[in-house]
Amino acid sequence: MAKRTTILREVSVEGIGLHTGNNSVAVFKPAPNAEYGIRFVRTDLPNKPEIKAVWSNASSGLAVRGSIIEKNGVRIYTIEHIMSACFALGIDNLIIEINNNEPPILDGSAKMFAETLLKGGVKEFDALREYYVLKEPVHFEAGKTKISAYPSDRLEIECIIGFDHPFLRFQQMSLKSLDKDFYLNNIALAKTFCFDYEIEPLQEKGLALGGSMDNAIVIALDGVHNKELLRYNDEFVRHKILDLIGDIYLAGKPIRAKIVAEKPGHQNNIVFVKEFLKKAVKSYGDGGG
Ligand SMILES: [Zn+2]
Repeated sequence: MAKRTTILREVSVEGIGLHTGNNSVAVFKPAPNAEYGIRFVRTDLPNKPEIKAVWSNASSGLAVRGSIIEKNGVRIYTIEHIMSACFALGIDNLIIEINNNEPPILDGSAKMFAETLLKGGVKEFDALREYYVLKEPVHFEAGKTKISAYPSDRLEIECIIGFDHPFLRFQQMSLKSLDKDFYLNNIALAKTFCFDYEIEPLQEKGLALGGSMDNAIVIALDGVHNKELLRYNDEFVRHKILDLIGDIYLAGKPIRAKIVAEKPGHQNNIVFVKEFLKKAVKSYGDGGG
């Protein structure tokens, strides 16, 4: 059975935040103990407030285009790609110090977060990892989004996305297990995307201020205008899976279930986590990742 982990040594990344446009350094540090969880620390503020990355600190109303955690009026934007990399790499406990209100978006994928965290190495605590598992299915529906979860001995994800857009109508992907290497090669590299007509309204709302052709795929009526070619033909559904993995880690422990998500998005993912936890039980798992 797996032990709980943190990283061995301090590592960091630096860059512009997608939504705020603020530059920041995110420093990943080993957690002090096996019960610590994943906590973000705002080192730019007096007394360095700390926010645990769990659903109770995440407001679905705030999560318009990214997942935000907030405590006592202090916020951290766009945490989902870091959370996704932590889940996939089996990191249970981590200190993430940020000297601003949003971690860097980097290339819009989880690639550099995963590579950086891997450089941090693995430290095991003498404590068994706990998972959330189901004994009966959970169904959640809101608008055009449907997310169901079924009992399984590992994390499986089936994701379906659909848009009323000539370039991106439908993509679907099934993931039979969240193997670390599969994640690194097939999910972590998938970049953030948006439609060209969304950019102006988002920026009027004060979002996507750090967005650029370097960190987001921009989809126009006639296709993608970025210089970099798509990394996969179905990169969009892969990124939605990347985000979903990050959002479900707001449960506070890794989830083992088969999740079927139609048109997932951050706001609904966060509500789904709350519904999931109403029926979930803790388990030490029985092998696997
Ligand atoms: Zn994302």
